[in-house]
Amino acid sequence: MANNKRPSWDEYFLKLAMLVSERATCPRMHVGCVLVRDKRILSTGYNGSISGQPHCDDVGCQIVDNHCVRTIHAEMNAIIQCAIHGISTQGATAYITNLPCTNCAKALIGAGIKEIVIFSDYHDSLAEDFFEKAGVPIKRLPQPENYIHYDLDLFSSARKFDDEDIGDEDNHNHCERC
Ligand SMILES: [Zn+2]
Ligand SMILES: [Zn+2]
Repeated sequence: MANNKRPSWDEYFLKLAMLVSERATCPRMHVGCVLVRDKRILSTGYNGSISGQPHCDDVGCQIVDNHCVRTIHAEMNAIIQCAIHGISTQGATAYITNLPCTNCAKALIGAGIKEIVIFSDYHDSLAEDFFEKAGVPIKRLPQPENYIHYDLDLFSSARKFDDEDIGDEDNHNHCERC
């Protein structure tokens, strides 16, 4: 049977950005970013606290001038991941859930990103102005569907776990009901 749910590359990477955003830790905004070159994922990022520091979700936002400043933004984290792993971002495309903020736009331009793909805008950003001056096009697409098509019942080669197979050995050993 033909797979009529197969997404286009743009839909695929935008949907991944949505999935990445689920790890965000600031309740004011959830953003996901996927950096891609030649249809390969270089890195992903979501907006969250500096590694090892408390999250907005746990201790509240840190507001300065009506912005939460606690988190590193998704786009910055995606660039940071590349820096940590020694991966060039030159010529990559950034798939992001939202139009970047002004500072992230500047960082993406500086990192050599050649195209931005988004499905929503941001309330406060000079990004469009900076991207236009840098010659970086913004592609606005519809939001991908909020659903992942993965149904084990449809796959003849799949075998579901029995309930007792689920979980690691440690948990299993300490389960009081077993
Ligand atoms: Zn916050
Ligand atoms: Zn930003």
